[in-house]
Amino acid sequence: MKKGLLLTLLIITSLALIGCGKGKTSDSAETVKIAYLPITHSLAALEEADELEKNENVNVELVKYGSWPELLDALNSGKVDGASVLIELAMKSKSEGVGIKAVALGHKDGNVIVVSNDVKDGKDLKGKTIAIPHRQSSHNILVNDALTKDGLSIDDVNIVELAPTEMPSALAAGTIDGYCVAEPFGAMGVSVGAGKVLYTSEELWPDSVCCALVLTDDFINNNADTAKAFVEGYKTAGNNLDSDTAKKVAKKYLNQKDDVLDISLKWISYNDLEITEEMYGELSDKVKSYGLSDNPPAYADFVKNDF
Ligand code: ZN
Repeated sequence: MKKGLLLTLLIITSLALIGCGKGKTSDSAETVKIAYLPITHSLAALEEADELEKNENVNVELVKYGSWPELLDALNSGKVDGASVLIELAMKSKSEGVGIKAVALGHKDGNVIVVSNDVKDGKDLKGKTIAIPHRQSSHNILVNDALTKDGLSIDDVNIVELAPTEMPSALAAGTIDGYCVAEPFGAMGVSVGAGKVLYTSEELWPDSVCCALVLTDDFINNNADTAKAFVEGYKTAGNNLDSDTAKKVAKKYLNQKDDVLDISLKWISYNDLEITEEMYGELSDKVKSYGLSDNPPAYADFVKNDF
């Protein structure tokens, strides 16, 4: 009698679990949960979410985070299926054993080094305090590139890690002398008159790599067709991001002023977001030579283009 009841309960529970499963049903599309930060560097993912809103096969559920560490926790613990994230942070997670793949670039170019108005030129950075958002970032690499270009090294300046939102006001207050960070926070410093552009990323590192779209191995392996449709949709969305569309999506998701977006969106583009072996090789070399990591993941292990 008791055994029969247990068995019945077990069957009901199993049926309920199957019902809650993520399997594709005839009347609903598969959903891909993507983590993002409200920056222009994630606009391709945001645009894709809008474009696929009524798609029958795949939808994007956006999950907004307030900082890179929070976003990374969600990605590393499998709370989301993927993320638009600084590629160096994703490389570090991959090196530490997290099962993720980089499937596309977040954007092309789109970074600047902003300095206070009394910094005359690159050589003038000696002894100055420069802020970056995280040691594991292309912003750190770009600052190193700028110093190298002007015959200096990272030991000639004082590097501090600051939250992106605090950088424009820190520059205005004179707490720091310059910064490099995801947009639109560079444009914000320029727009309020706190500083000026010393270098754009393409002046320092042509075809620079900054953010990547990553997906978890679990998601790719268990949802191959959806992953393929999602990555294709993402690249299409990137190609559709002309300046008008980019501004429209940025206004919807970023809560930034028009003049800040107008300055910032001039620096960035989103077409052709494939991560080539050549650009990844250059990134890996810089990661090693500037001391971000001794052993970045190999292209074949980390980048996936064959959907
Ligand atoms: Zn970026």
